[in-house]
Amino acid sequence: MVSNALRDADLSYTIHPYTNLVAHETKGPLIAVRGEGVRVFDDKGKDYIEGMAGLWCASLGFSEPRLAAAAARQMAELPFFHMFSHKSHEPGIRLSEELVKRAPVPMARAFFCNSGSEANDTAIKMIWYINNALGRPQKKKIIARKRAYHGVTVASASLTGLPANHRDFDLPIANILHTSSPDYYREGKPGESEEAFAKRCADELEAMILAEDPNTVAAFFAEPIMGAGGVVLPPKGYFEHIQAVLKKYDILLVADEVICGFGRTGQYWGSQTFGLKPDILTCAKALSSAYMPISAVLVTEEVYKPLRDNSGKIGTFGHGYTYSAHPVAAAVALETLAIYDERDILGNVAVSGARLQERLRSFADHPLVGNVRGIGLIGAIELVADKATHGAFPASDAVGPRVVTKAEEAGVILRAMAGDVVAFSPPLIITPEEVDQMMDRFTVALEAVTAEVL
Ligand code: PLP
Repeated sequence: MVSNALRDADLSYTIHPYTNLVAHETKGPLIAVRGEGVRVFDDKGKDYIEGMAGLWCASLGFSEPRLAAAAARQMAELPFFHMFSHKSHEPGIRLSEELVKRAPVPMARAFFCNSGSEANDTAIKMIWYINNALGRPQKKKIIARKRAYHGVTVASASLTGLPANHRDFDLPIANILHTSSPDYYREGKPGESEEAFAKRCADELEAMILAEDPNTVAAFFAEPIMGAGGVVLPPKGYFEHIQAVLKKYDILLVADEVICGFGRTGQYWGSQTFGLKPDILTCAKALSSAYMPISAVLVTEEVYKPLRDNSGKIGTFGHGYTYSAHPVAAAVALETLAIYDERDILGNVAVSGARLQERLRSFADHPLVGNVRGIGLIGAIELVADKATHGAFPASDAVGPRVVTKAEEAGVILRAMAGDVVAFSPPLIITPEEVDQMMDRFTVALEAVTAEVL
């Protein structure tokens, strides 16, 4: 009864993010009530392996007592303070230091926000601010990529290169452009090698920069692996070619490590796995294992210096959130980073990631599977109607979403992306045995849908 009342209240009072609100009226909510390791339990006691770690974020699973204790300690000691106008506090200071020390390239400073979207908005504002400070007010355009995901605030949604984030929102805003997506499986031409495709992507970026006038292009944003755009790994040599173009035209690289950061790809940062040397790095999600909302923007000395000087000239760096470096969130993030070290999270990603990649690749010959990809503890299976031509199913058949619905029935939460891509991004603490259980449950779902469509 309680559960039905809650369901009714959900249907009566909520607006769900990223939800077909009409379909929700009949489908109703999956109400989670508790978590344990890599699993969550619904209000009827059914368990689900969280194959997406929530939203690619709950890296330490759903029941880490040390994070709850860190939050409680900080709540009791100093539940709130801020870092505006020369104020400070220990968790904020120590987290800045930890992140700067852990950065994949020499970084000078850290700035905190509450979400990945805000971190990317902050990066854009910093770029505009410093280019004004450096006396080049025309150098403001930002290039992101088709199928990128950088968030949903007005500026970060503009960076995002997915139609649903623009349509009827009157986005993107001016001066944000989208270059080619690096999806070799979908965008590679017949006979084109992966390396040649990567070079073509860089050539297309260069052509865009030249068409726009290099003096007007300020920065390029990239996720090391595109997440919500369909778990797209960079083709071989991609970032090498892209960074050569950026360097040639004095364009900053912003690495959006919101998904890849803190071990997801097998190294601490996706930038290390794929050879990015960012000028600005944004991170969130696994920074606190998602137990508290917190994100960060790391900047090099070259970015920090003009920002510092300009704030001196104007009288303030006029940007900051009430909850920038919230002490409870910062304390939880510090504890999260300590746990990653103590429990050798990268070691676990190596072992369980190998198992995940092996299980994913075992579907390569499946009649519905066009492409399997991934690294570390992130991966995807792309379902197609025609393996030879890569021909997709009609979107109206909703093959990917149907697999995900069946998977939920079988007890694993996954996510379907546009183009019938089923994504996997489990908590980084998952064991090889749990990977097997997750993939066994997925197999049941895939076979059920295969029987329907073949
Ligand atoms: N950047 C990337 C790569 C993401 O995957 C996300 C969220 O999924 C964001 C930014 C936006 O983060 P948030 O939802 O915390 O605003």
